[in-house]
Amino acid sequence: MNKIPFIDLASQYGRIMQEVDGAIKAVLCHGMYVMGPEVYELEAKLSVFTGCKHSISCSNGTDAIVLALKAKNVKPGDAVFVPSFTFAATAEAVALVGATPVFVDILQTTLNIDVDSLKNALHTAKETGLNPVGIITVDIFGVPADYEQISKFAKAEGLFVIADCAQSFGAEYNGKKVCACDYCDIATTSFFPAKPLGCYGDGGAIFTNDDAIASEIISYRVHGQGTDKYQNDRIGLNARLDTIQAAILLKKLEIFQDEIVARNEIAGHYNKALCGIVEVQTVPANCLSVWAQYTIKFGSKTERDEAKDYLSAKEIPSVIYYPKPLHMQKAYLDYANKAKIQLSVSEFVSDVVLSLPMSPYLTEQHMQEIISAMQTFCSGKK
Ligand SMILES: *Cc1c(COP(=O)(O)O)cnc(C)c1O
Repeated sequence: MNKIPFIDLASQYGRIMQEVDGAIKAVLCHGMYVMGPEVYELEAKLSVFTGCKHSISCSNGTDAIVLALKAKNVKPGDAVFVPSFTFAATAEAVALVGATPVFVDILQTTLNIDVDSLKNALHTAKETGLNPVGIITVDIFGVPADYEQISKFAKAEGLFVIADCAQSFGAEYNGKKVCACDYCDIATTSFFPAKPLGCYGDGGAIFTNDDAIASEIISYRVHGQGTDKYQNDRIGLNARLDTIQAAILLKKLEIFQDEIVARNEIAGHYNKALCGIVEVQTVPANCLSVWAQYTIKFGSKTERDEAKDYLSAKEIPSVIYYPKPLHMQKAYLDYANKAKIQLSVSEFVSDVVLSLPMSPYLTEQHMQEIISAMQTFCSGKK
């Protein structure tokens, strides 16, 4: 019996092997390894896919957030609100531009930013003498954040919204792709191999409908270049997407919508079988998730850890995303101590979450194995 992969990238490659191999070979032959024609073709296709005016490819999802913050002129003394329950890059980008990440709590249901916590955090940040400038939302595990409430709050308080869509590229909010930027100033994503749309290395992209922001990001992406290559208008980065990765993404984008449908079918099966025995992530009615992860919650840390061991004994892989919220990580303790914001949901959730195998290529048989293992484990608990 073949082992259950946590994310099945091999089956995906099997499906598009000829196309991908041909696309890579084409780049090797034309030789434009940096900013070759595939990069511009990908950017145009990303705009068609997302419905956003400007799509700017870049080196990875972390640099994408750094570039977005630079375009918003975020600087030391500024505070940017980020959820504590996320991948480190969200807060790291804020710290890298010299600003202060202020952590906010999440909702137990969607695992995304809690707007009430955001309101408290704004108050606290001002009291601490910081200058609040913006919010970075995260669509954790592929489920869109509460954009209507967050953007309403941001507008009222004069804050920008950057949407970190590293896990939600292809997800929808009110019938439109999250990267369309209907509810944010800038959206960013990652094409890291394990993300819903991944390349074969590092990659990322930035989306905006604002012409001025787009041209700044394009400049920051290549050493702050001006109208010609050896004119430097600002301190930038080297944050380009490799042509080979763009060529690969072009082929993967062709089957992506189909994969989103498959992900939702698998998540639907999981939900039907597991609802009631564990807590599943809530997808609000106006949202479509891309299920970057299929994440469940147990009643306690002990139960979660036992479940992980139980699955592992049956050779079913599972991963804890994320075992420790950012405000408790060594690198971010100083920021967290200064702000003193209640982050109890982030702390609790980190103790009880577990992500199960998820990919558009998860077979019916493997899914049944996972589901029955979960059912047996949970019935033993009752
Ligand atoms: C993966 C991820 C990033 C960073 O993307 P990289 O391409 O790995 O730099 C940022 N934010 C979130 C929420 C992520 O999951």
